[in-house]
Amino acid sequence: MLEVSQRIQALAPSATLAMSQRSNELRAQGVDVINMSVGEPDFDTPHHIKEAAKRAIDENYTRYTPVPGYMSLRKAIVQNLKETNGVEYQPEQIVVSNGAKQGLCNVILSVINPGDEVIIPTPAWVSYMEMVKLAEGKNVLVPAGLEQDFKVTPEQLRAAITPRTRMIILCSPSNPTGSVYTPDELQALVDVIKDYPDILVMADEIYQQINYTGTFRSLGSFPEIADRVVVVNGVSKAYAMTGWRIGFIAAPLWVAKATTKLQGQYTSGASSIAQKAAEAAYLGPQECVKEMCAVFQRRRDLIVELARQIPGVKVNVPQGAFYLFPDVSSYIGKTVGGREIKSSGDLCMYLLEVAHVATVDGAAFCLPGYIRLSYATSDDNIREAMRRIREALA
Ligand code: PMP
Ligand code: GLU
Repeated sequence: MLEVSQRIQALAPSATLAMSQRSNELRAQGVDVINMSVGEPDFDTPHHIKEAAKRAIDENYTRYTPVPGYMSLRKAIVQNLKETNGVEYQPEQIVVSNGAKQGLCNVILSVINPGDEVIIPTPAWVSYMEMVKLAEGKNVLVPAGLEQDFKVTPEQLRAAITPRTRMIILCSPSNPTGSVYTPDELQALVDVIKDYPDILVMADEIYQQINYTGTFRSLGSFPEIADRVVVVNGVSKAYAMTGWRIGFIAAPLWVAKATTKLQGQYTSGASSIAQKAAEAAYLGPQECVKEMCAVFQRRRDLIVELARQIPGVKVNVPQGAFYLFPDVSSYIGKTVGGREIKSSGDLCMYLLEVAHVATVDGAAFCLPGYIRLSYATSDDNIREAMRRIREALA
C-alpha cells in the first residue's frame, strides 16, 4: 500500500509552528489575533547584519558552501564562544546548520541507536522528543514542576540514569519556562554526570543571550565533562535572525565529523548568504544583543505582573528566554457557554477563538495544565492580550 512511512506517521507535527500557522490563518481572515504562540523575537535583524548579507550577494557568495560551514564563520563562532563562554574550541569542532534545530537533530541521529535512552527534563521544547523518536531512541522524561522552578535536581537526574542512557538534553535558559540554572545548580548536575562517562550531554544554549540573571555558565565550560558536551547555539534568538536559518554545534570532534557526514548527504552546507550575515553578527558590535535583552526583561516584568492579577493563574518569574508558562489548571473542568474545557489544549483553543490570543498548550511540552505565552511582542500587545485572557477566563 502506498502511504507515508511509519516513522512519519509516528511523528507529531510541531505544536508551536502549528499554532502560529492557525493564528496567521485567522489573521488573514480579518480576525485581530495577538500571536503569543511561536517563539521568535519581534525585532528586525540589525542593520549591519543585513548589509553584510547584501554585500555577500554582490561579492558572489552564491555557490555551495563547505558542509560544516565557511571556515571564516566557524572561526568567528570560535572567537565568540571564547569571549562569551571562556571556552577554546577548534574550528573543526564547529558545524554550522540550518538553524539550531538541524544541529540538534543531526546530533541525535548521529549518536542514538534504537532503544538508547535520552533523558529530557520536562517541560521541554516540543522538538526534542520527536527527534529522539525519529532516531528510534527512547525518551526518558523527568518532570520538574513549577514548585521546583521547572529545574531538575541532581537526585532526579541520577535516578533517571540507566545503563542504556546515551544522552541528556538540558536547555537553559529554558523554552518553555524561562528558567535559568545557576552556575552552582549546573555544577551539581555536572557532579552527577561526571560519574557516567558513556553519556553525552546536549546543552541547548540558544537563549544564552536572553538571560536576566547577569550570570551565565555554559555547560561546555565544565572541565570534568567538557569532552562529551555538545553546545548548541545560533543567531536566531540573540540577533533576531530566525528566518535566516543559521545555528551551530560546538562538539567533540567525533560528533562534529559524524554530523558533517549526515548533513553532507541530507542538506549540504547552510545558505552562503545567511552564513555571511551570521559572521557579521558574531564579529560586529554586540550592543544590539544587550538592547534586545533589556527590552525582553522589561516585557517580562510587565507580563508577570499582569498574569498575577488573573485569579487562579500561577506563574514563576522567568529568568530568561521570552516565555511565560502559567499553571492554568484551575480552569480545567469548567464549562462556558455549553462548552466544557477538558484540557489545557481546549483552553488554548478557547483563548484563540474567544479572546483571539494564540498560545501553546503545555501538553506539547509534556506538561498539561499549563500554557505557554511568548512575550516577544510589543508592550501594547502584551497588555491587550492579558486583558483579553483575563476577561475570557472570568
Ligand atoms: N532550541 C530551542 C529551545 C528553541 O526554542 C528553538 C526555537 N526555534 C531552537 C532550538 C531552534 O532554533 P533555530 O530557529 O535556530 O532552529
Ligand atoms: N523555538 C520556537 C518556539 O518554540 C520556534 C518554533 C519552533 O521551531 O518550534 O516557538
